[in-house]
Amino acid sequence: MPSIFTKIIKGEIPCYKVAEDDHFIAFLDINPNAKGHTLCVPKLEINRIFDMEEDHYLDLMRFSRKIAKALEKVVPCDRIGVSVIGLEVPHVHVHLIPINEMKDMTFQHKVQLSAEEMQDLAKRIAQEL
Ligand code: 5GP
Repeated sequence: MPSIFTKIIKGEIPCYKVAEDDHFIAFLDINPNAKGHTLCVPKLEINRIFDMEEDHYLDLMRFSRKIAKALEKVVPCDRIGVSVIGLEVPHVHVHLIPINEMKDMTFQHKVQLSAEEMQDLAKRIAQEL
């Protein structure tokens, strides 16, 4: 069965899209740790990040860095935290999280944003690319 992220990539499920190229997509996390929490996802559905072919993995990191640079221009923060977990969605994704404190990286502390705020954030990050 395709992952929820494959369904997003195919346009079967909506997302707040930040960027997309032939191989990767970035969209806002639906249950963000912090404002601007973004997921960078390879279009090829692979469960574990270190099973990716090396160049594909390095391209994902290059893509994620580009998104992180745009994200930090839009969301004031100390830095962009990076995490790879995949226990909830077994389709590789890099979490980019604007952080100020360690709790922002714990996945216990969540923030609520309106649909309008999410839409606006995705648009403003995209404009910085
Ligand atoms: P992980 O697999 O790394 O533990 O976490 C999966 C992440 O994907 C979570 O932060 C969760 O909020 C996010 N997520 C799960 N389902 C969806 C979805 O349908 N849309 C979006 N945008 N994010 C999702």
